[in-house]
Amino acid sequence: MSWFIRKEKGIITPTEMKREAPDGLWYQCPNCKKIMHTREHKLNAYTCVHCNYHEKIGSEAYFGLLFNDNQFTELDADMTSADPLKFTDTKAYPDRVRSTIKKTGLKDAVRTAYGKMNEVDITIACMDFAFIGGSMGSVVGEKIARAIDHSLQTKTPFLMISRSGGARMMEAGFSLMQMAKTSAKLALLSEAGIPYISLLTDPTTGGVTASFAMLGDFNIAEPEALIGFAGPRVIRETIGKDLPKGFQSAEFVLEHGFLDFIVDRKDLKDKVSSLLQMLQ
Ligand SMILES: [Zn+2]
Repeated sequence: MSWFIRKEKGIITPTEMKREAPDGLWYQCPNCKKIMHTREHKLNAYTCVHCNYHEKIGSEAYFGLLFNDNQFTELDADMTSADPLKFTDTKAYPDRVRSTIKKTGLKDAVRTAYGKMNEVDITIACMDFAFIGGSMGSVVGEKIARAIDHSLQTKTPFLMISRSGGARMMEAGFSLMQMAKTSAKLALLSEAGIPYISLLTDPTTGGVTASFAMLGDFNIAEPEALIGFAGPRVIRETIGKDLPKGFQSAEFVLEHGFLDFIVDRKDLKDKVSSLLQMLQ
């Protein structure tokens, strides 16, 4: 391979001459580091074709995966957050919200919609971690409450897809009230005998786990999702002991009786719709 060895030294290619694959053509799995086509990855429900790592995705991808032909009607699409506490940390809260809206193209950390999933009419609420860590503030609580109202009015099952760091600190007590509000709405759904399925994805923690995410008629999770209330560091320091292996993984939580089953994202649509058909 002598022709392959560079004879002259110091050959520098200017940046503009370098050829690159178009952005977004390839996807590198953060778990096994293997490379695949973005298209192939998307067709595989955003899971790695080599190691089945489930990439963290948001509402746009989930709606595309679940609603037939990506057809759905969004509820309360323009609801945005107020600033009841005039809260400032490194930034004023309204500035943080505005810049996050601009950066993500989302209005808050949850989107709600209804449509058809296989043969089933369904209402789905899906959290977006990209919006301030999927934190639950007043808008998240209100949109979920209204989506449950929609389920009640139309007698369609409700699917909640959670991915959240917990309550939104910038709304303090107002965030915590959302736990009671969403739980009360879910109680009405239960009284009406309408099924509620809660899907916990990586990560689901804090006030979200402590309220609607664990109140499903079926609580299900994606493989290896981190599920917990407090973070492992806090728990370790509190109990002063090392934590067992795999602590707070979906598999661990399933084994300890807090989940009904774990579902591979590629099977999510078919499994959930056939489960709901059985319940009808
Ligand atoms: Zn992989």
